[in-house]
Formats: sequence, structure tokens, C-alpha cells
Amino acid sequence: MRIQDAPIEASLWHATAAPAPDTFEVEGRETADVCIIGGGYTGLSSALHLAEQGVDVVLLEAKQIGNGGSGRNAGHCTPTFHFYEIPTIRKMLGDPYASRLIQRQTDAANLVFDIIHRFDIDCEGVQTGYVQSAHAPGLLPKMEQRCGYYQSLGKATRMLDREEVARLTGSPRYYGGWFHPEGGHLNPLGYSRGLARAAISLGARVFTQSAVTAIKAEGTRWRVETAKGSVTADKVICGTGAYTNGFWPGLEGSFSRLGVAVMATQPLGDNLRKIIAPNNNTVVDSRGDAMIYKYNKEGRLVTSAFVEGRRGGDMAYTKVLMAKKLQWLLPDVPEVDWHYYWLGVLDMQPKTIPRLFNLAPGIVASLGYSGRGVPTGTMMGTVLAEWALGAKPEDLALPLEPLRAAPFYMNFVPRLFLAWYRFNDQRLARAGGAAPPPF
Ligand SMILES: Cc1cc2nc3c(=O)[nH]c(=O)nc-3n(C[C@H](O)[C@H](O)[C@H](O)COP(=O)(O)OP(=O)(O)OC[C@H]3O[C@@H](n4cnc5c(N)ncnc54)[C@H](O)[C@@H]3O)c2cc1C
Repeated sequence: MRIQDAPIEASLWHATAAPAPDTFEVEGRETADVCIIGGGYTGLSSALHLAEQGVDVVLLEAKQIGNGGSGRNAGHCTPTFHFYEIPTIRKMLGDPYASRLIQRQTDAANLVFDIIHRFDIDCEGVQTGYVQSAHAPGLLPKMEQRCGYYQSLGKATRMLDREEVARLTGSPRYYGGWFHPEGGHLNPLGYSRGLARAAISLGARVFTQSAVTAIKAEGTRWRVETAKGSVTADKVICGTGAYTNGFWPGLEGSFSRLGVAVMATQPLGDNLRKIIAPNNNTVVDSRGDAMIYKYNKEGRLVTSAFVEGRRGGDMAYTKVLMAKKLQWLLPDVPEVDWHYYWLGVLDMQPKTIPRLFNLAPGIVASLGYSGRGVPTGTMMGTVLAEWALGAKPEDLALPLEPLRAAPFYMNFVPRLFLAWYRFNDQRLARAGGAAPPPF
């Protein structure tokens, strides 16, 4: 089975999210100002922001709302850039796009929580802050620099010393870290369903079980076709992320896929919850092959790992490995019983920032988020709404690029990086006289 076909029904979120609004398959001919393909954060946030402006919108989702990454991710909402520092983004994109993207991305968690509050979305959403912890002392100067970059953007970030990071994470393995108060976490499927409900309440028409098979020109408009119906619209937004299939030639080749396994423990008792992440923060460590954890509403610890051969592919092996990893990090946890285990895929591309592709006059695609999609997908919905409302390309937050194939090396380099990261994680720890992470 391909990872993108793994069932969402196995996920903790599917078992616990607030129900989805009633939706049906599209049948017959529909017309709209804008047709959106994909019922994840990108498509749903675009629909919400367009419907809010009174635009007539139809959204088509192949399966159920949040079927892709948006319903099965780990639920961290972190308003930073994952791979690059702020000055690197400035160099990569140049102004005005760099300043615009930096502003949008670093404010994106506030956008997410503003939407959750405005539409009263039932999704376990808490903006309790993000802790990034250093697994080796030598990483602290770099973290201090990163913390400073976000401070210079007006964020109330701060450094954490060894005692405070131990208190906030519950782990004795870290040497310090930094804190970003705007980070948070949520039930990702609950958030997707809430976005759909909000968009529908504003007049958007949302259809599920409606896979788009082709987009064809119809006079000056576009006809978006499914097995049983079609939508004719002036503009089309493609928000199909890593779950894109062949409905537009070349779109699937614009990124590579990287699998992620996500798992959730038994609910931890109150005493343990007072020790481990007692402030209900999200915790991500400094390892290239990072350890990452947060609670759900029942007090289960949710963590994840990139799929790499047996890791992720072999569930029994992965459960044992991830239990050992978690217990090394959190020795207070007496036993780990993984009650939930599920898989998803990321859409990776070399720049690791969103790409806005101009597929044809009146058709754009936004994908390649390479992780960080909770804030980024929601934020890109605002950019796509501006595009659909007629903003000039030069006024958008990102350049509108011609569709490009991802370089061939993207098929294996992200996986090779994981092995290199693990070697480097150990090297950095040893160099600082720290106990190297054994995994
Ligand atoms: C396991 C995992 C863990 C992650 N953890 C995090 C995290 O903790 N924090 C974070 O910020 N990000 C995380 N991410 C990334 C994040 O989930 C994604 O970047 C984000 O959800 C992408 O949103 P999207 O709307 O662009 O695409 P998706 O959510 O993937 O939605 C695309 C939708 O398009 C639909 N579709 C595809 N083809 C068609 C078609 N032909 N017709 C109609 N519909 C179609 C799919 O069914 C799907 O529902 C994670 C991702 C995964 C997979």
C-alpha cells in the first residue's frame, strides 16, 4: 500500500474529533466564481476567506474533509520556518516577497487561533507556546540567535536555561532551549472539520467523495470535472498537497513525498502530567531527526517519526523503537503503550517554503509546504483568496511561478539526510560532553 493511501480511520484524531458537517458528492453541473480542489487547510482556508468576502465558492474534496495531511498530522502549530533562519529566507526570496512571507508565516499561528475563536471551532486548540530544546550544549548559541531573530520581529520569545527546560519538557536530557509563546497545538482533523463548517456557514458549497479527474477550458472559464458532476468557474485553486493525483499534468511531479508515522500513548495519569510538559506546551528538540511531543485532550502523548525503511514501514518494530526513544527522553514514563498508530505523507520540495504555481491563466496551485502546514496552509488560504479576488501577482506574498518538476535528487535526498542528521546529532552531543541520544 502506498503511504498516501493509508486509512485516516486508524488515527487518534478520527476517533476523537468533533463530527464533520454533512456533505455530499457533487452531481450534475454547478457554477461558481471560484472552484477549490482539496479539503485540507489550504482549500478550506481559501474557501473561508473567499466566502467571507461574499465570493461564490465551491470546494471539491476527493474523500472526506481533512483526508490528507490536514486530518492526520501531529497537530503542532508553530509559527516559524522549520529549515531556514530568517536571514536565509530574506536571501532566498529577496524583497518584497521575503518580508511579506516572513510576516505572514510568523503571524500564522495567531491567524489559526483567531479563526478557532471567531468560529468557535471545537478542536482542542490551545496556544500555550512552543519549546525547542537543545540536545547538545553546543547548539545553544544558534538557538539564542534564532530566538533573537523572532524577537526582532516583535515576538516575545525567550531563552530557557537547563532547569527551566527540564521543568517545561519533563526531560533531564536537555541543556537549555528557547520558548515561543505563540506556538500551540490542536486536533488537526477537528480543526479541518471546523474550517469546513465555518466556510459552509458563510455560504461556501463543500462537496466530498468528489475526486477531480480533469480541468478543461470552457470558453473563458474552466470546467472542473468529477465522475458524476462538474463545476464551471472563473478561477480554480488547487490545494491538494501531498495527496495530489494526476488531475493536472506535472503537478504531482512538482514535489516529492516523505512519509511520517504518528502515534499516541495511553492517557497519562495526573501525576505524570504534572511532570511531563506540565504547561501543555508543544515540545520539539534540536535533533535533525527530531523528537517531538504534545498532549491530546485525554492526556495521551502524541509523537511522530519520518518513515525510513523499517521505521514507519514495520508497525511492530516502530512501536518498540519509539517507546525506547520516548522512555530515554522521559524516564518518568513507566511504560509506553501505543494505542494509536497511523501514517501520512508530506509534500517536500527543495526550498521547503510554500510554492505558488501558475498552472494556466486563472488556475493556481499552492503546495510543497515540507511540514509546518497547520499555520502555513491556513495562511496560504489568505494569499490564495487575495489572488482569486484579483490581486496583481506582484502584490502577492509569494511569487507566482511556472510549474516546475522537483529535481530528481528529491526522491532520495530527504531520506539520506535523516541518516546524516542522526550521525550529526550524536556527534554534536559528544562534542559537548553530553550523553548522545542512542537512537
Ligand atoms: C503525518 C504528518 C504529520 C504532520 N505534522 C505536522 C504538524 O505537527 N504541524 C504542522 O504544521 N504540519 C504538519 N504536517 C504537515 C501538514 O499536515 C500539511 O502540510 C498540511 O496539512 C497540508 O495541507 P493542504 O491543505 O495543503 O493539503 P492536504 O491536507 O493534504 O489536503 C489535500 C486534500 O486534497 C484532496 N485531493 C487530492 N486530490 C484530489 C482530487 N483530484 N480531487 C479532489 N480532492 C483531491 C485530498 O484528499 C486531501 O484531502 C504533517 C503532515 C503529516 C502527513
